[in-house]
Amino acid sequence: MVEIQQSVFCEELLAAAEKNGVSSLLNGERAEKFFLLTKHMLTVNESFNLTAIKEPRRIIFLHYIDCLLGASFFPLGASVIDVGCGAGFPSLPLAICRPDLKITGLDATGKKAKYVKDTASLLGLSNVDTVTARAEDAAHLSSMREAFDCATARAVAGLPVLCEICLPFVKKNGLFIAMKGKNAGEELEAARSALEKLGAKEEQTHATHIHDFSGETFLHTTLLLRKKEETPALYPRPYAKILKKPL
Ligand code: SAM
Repeated sequence: MVEIQQSVFCEELLAAAEKNGVSSLLNGERAEKFFLLTKHMLTVNESFNLTAIKEPRRIIFLHYIDCLLGASFFPLGASVIDVGCGAGFPSLPLAICRPDLKITGLDATGKKAKYVKDTASLLGLSNVDTVTARAEDAAHLSSMREAFDCATARAVAGLPVLCEICLPFVKKNGLFIAMKGKNAGEELEAARSALEKLGAKEEQTHATHIHDFSGETFLHTTLLLRKKEETPALYPRPYAKILKKPL
């Protein structure tokens, strides 16, 4: 495993945050939690595939800064469901930097949901819970349907599919905050009809170039989609149908 030195890692994380305009979300104590998260994730990653990005400096930019660029759009004290949380992105960076949020990480893979819950405990984060379920099933449960102020998702599916599995969790007037990359504009166009059928509207698009230390840039886009109407009971449909005929 790549050796990481805590002081170097924290210094680099804070510098990366400064360079990308998210330093107000970090401090020394939070940086230390990111260090522990990185060490733990890379250790677990040796036996259970969590991330293809294994170099700490790349993890800082491609996972942490990418998630933090969306962090300030969540309303204060919001309940948030992270659909397809995988290795805990954006759940864990959000939980570290936005302790006011109450986060539920949902994933179809029990081992990933357990990893996120165990990691949150290891980091002393009391604002994270996890659920093992497929989103299209969980969204029909009365305990979860229209039960969250916000839904979020990163690297799970294209936007038309994502809207159908995420918006049903959101309360009327709440937000679906989609964390996307360079194709966000095209995905948004493709999702116009899904948004209409699901009772949601595009509210804002924030596109930002992430700058790393070598001069490379990556486009991060946060899409804010406002749920204006209750989601029709039909949605989400079974996943095979969603994929076969996206809305
Ligand atoms: N969000 C994380 C990230 O940004 O690194 C994980 C991305 S990973 C590529 C996609 C995750 O979504 C996987 O862990 C998978 O199990 C989960 N997933 C995909 N479709 C899902 C669904 N319909 N319901 C629940 N989880 C789903």
